[in-house]
Amino acid sequence: MPELPEVEALAEFLREEAVGRTVTRVDAVAISALKTFQPPITDLAGRTIAAVGRYGKFLDLTMRAQGSTEGSAEVAGDLHLIVHLARAGWLRWSTSLAEKPPRPGKGPLAVRVHLGDGMGFDLTEAGTQKRLATYVVTDPALVPGVSRLGPDPLADEFTEQALGDVLKAAGRAQLKGILTDQARIAGIGNAYSDEILHAARLSPFKPANGLSGAETATLYAAVRSVLTDAAVRARGLAAKDLKAEKKTNLAVHGRTGQPCPVCGDTVREVSFADSSLQYCPTCQTGGKPLADRRLSRLLK
Ligand SMILES: [Zn+2]
Repeated sequence: MPELPEVEALAEFLREEAVGRTVTRVDAVAISALKTFQPPITDLAGRTIAAVGRYGKFLDLTMRAQGSTEGSAEVAGDLHLIVHLARAGWLRWSTSLAEKPPRPGKGPLAVRVHLGDGMGFDLTEAGTQKRLATYVVTDPALVPGVSRLGPDPLADEFTEQALGDVLKAAGRAQLKGILTDQARIAGIGNAYSDEILHAARLSPFKPANGLSGAETATLYAAVRSVLTDAAVRARGLAAKDLKAEKKTNLAVHGRTGQPCPVCGDTVREVSFADSSLQYCPTCQTGGKPLADRRLSRLLK
């Protein structure tokens, strides 16, 4: 479940390790992960990775044809490999990739990118729900998920006023849903939205238009500090260490039943069809547990 901080760390890692290297071969193992077919992903072979960017939770590898002018930001003929890791996807860097093409099957391997001398990376996805998505496009904006992204919460332009505008436009929508709606704010998922709301001492179900000026300022500070701190911690870590790093520094997310590190109250959760959120009643809801619809339905 990589979110903005982890995807940014992956991008930084690739900028150091992969930029300047040439793709020698691409093994497309899971057809379900390919969201575009023209040009085929295998056509990236022979191109050089010229830059690595991030849009929300999307990674963007600029793939440049051999012989193109080096050093400029964007060159005619560039292709972009856009990757969305979704909930259970990951990028594994390797210095000893097998030369033998992998067999398509039920394993976690979706796409393997060879960069020569055994170096390269795997895009993998655990579990049975296959949501990992790759796109090969001439312009990142051609990816629907990228073009609809809201502002990046770590960009300079994302001011307290900008957050205020997002909240205003959201009307009575609840904070948890707003923070994770990629069209409103880019890059925040289930984990960091829980952490941001805990840091801001706000209920996940509070309506956007119910925030005072002071609460908006607190929420803004929490968005910036939670994401910046996570990005700083993730920086420089090897891709394989990022997941463990994220887990050890969460205050409430994924910690149902454990004590809140701020006040000691028991962290509680609300379950939905295919996800759940965690929060601290003392810190966030005036000590009152939120109704868990699934639980109360079961008890009826
Ligand atoms: Zn607490």
